[in-house]
Amino acid sequence: MLTRYYKYELFQQELDRIVRKESSPFSLKTIGYSVLKKPIYLLQAGSGSIKVFMWSQMHGNESTTTRALLDLIDQDDFKPLLDKIELYIIPILNPDGAENWTRENANKVDLNRNAVLKDQPETMIFFEQLELIKPDMCFNLHGQRTIFGTEDGSKPCQLSFLAPASNDEKSFNPARLKAVKVINSIYSQLQPDLNTAICRYSDDFNENCFGDYLTSRNIPTVLFEAGHAGLDYHRDEITSIIKNAILTALQSLYEKEYASYNQLVESYLSIPQISKTFCDIVLRYEQDDKTVFTSLMYKEVLEEGQLILSPRVNDINPETVRNAHRIMDVDGQLPEDLKIDENNIVKSEVLGIKNLIII
Ligand SMILES: [Zn+2]
Repeated sequence: MLTRYYKYELFQQELDRIVRKESSPFSLKTIGYSVLKKPIYLLQAGSGSIKVFMWSQMHGNESTTTRALLDLIDQDDFKPLLDKIELYIIPILNPDGAENWTRENANKVDLNRNAVLKDQPETMIFFEQLELIKPDMCFNLHGQRTIFGTEDGSKPCQLSFLAPASNDEKSFNPARLKAVKVINSIYSQLQPDLNTAICRYSDDFNENCFGDYLTSRNIPTVLFEAGHAGLDYHRDEITSIIKNAILTALQSLYEKEYASYNQLVESYLSIPQISKTFCDIVLRYEQDDKTVFTSLMYKEVLEEGQLILSPRVNDINPETVRNAHRIMDVDGQLPEDLKIDENNIVKSEVLGIKNLIII
């Protein structure tokens, strides 16, 4: 099983193992090459009447949904679905970003802002396949940072979804309504535990984003975001949750829908809106008779093939941060070993603030 960071070669080996199993219904082909000439793959299986196209890791540093997809297609209990759907999967659209742990591709372009321009090889490959497949439904699979929670900051956002807008007026065209139906179904069936939330992502229209571009052309697309809660920095727990969300979404595609337009939209808009209310660590201590809050964020750094989460003093959105995944109350004086260097890197063995190594 893959961990949060893996070399592309390891991903290739795992993919190969899964499709080579005698029981595997999947065929695998290379559909093109990234900027740095890494192969991009398409998996195909199923003979059902609903064509579903999904892609993951167009942002290279978002591996959770790729891991969930591999777990999903490695399981035999997934097979009955294939009578009803025809499934196409690009498990990693941005192999160079995945290898180097960057959001962008090797030309430093955010592929999810390239839907109109289409001047990157990965984007061209995607749209070529879209044209060939002509999907009835698309799943655009992403992972998000640790800063998201409910607006009041009471709960971290473990999953979020978006039925992207089709225009600046954010109207609900038929494609957007189909995405809404899928999201409502996931939301009603996947109960988050009491300490976490499932949220709705911001729907400002941006045609350069794949989901908005496709919805505006009446191709239904659901954005999935694997989130973060608690100390799940290896993202193992969320991998299994997002896998269930994908499975639930696929099952919902062949369920009859009885809700009206208004009911669908109303249920969708009742899902809590996502907000940037969280940070990784809050240090709470007394200084000069005042309570001081210092918020820290982990910076993700790839060093010699290891993903390292390095705690730094955080100055983004200090006024909107309302909660943290870890709150540390320091009684009295700050420990003497607490050090903040010129790069804002924070260390204290006494408080257990140090690099997290993801292997
Ligand atoms: Zn993303």
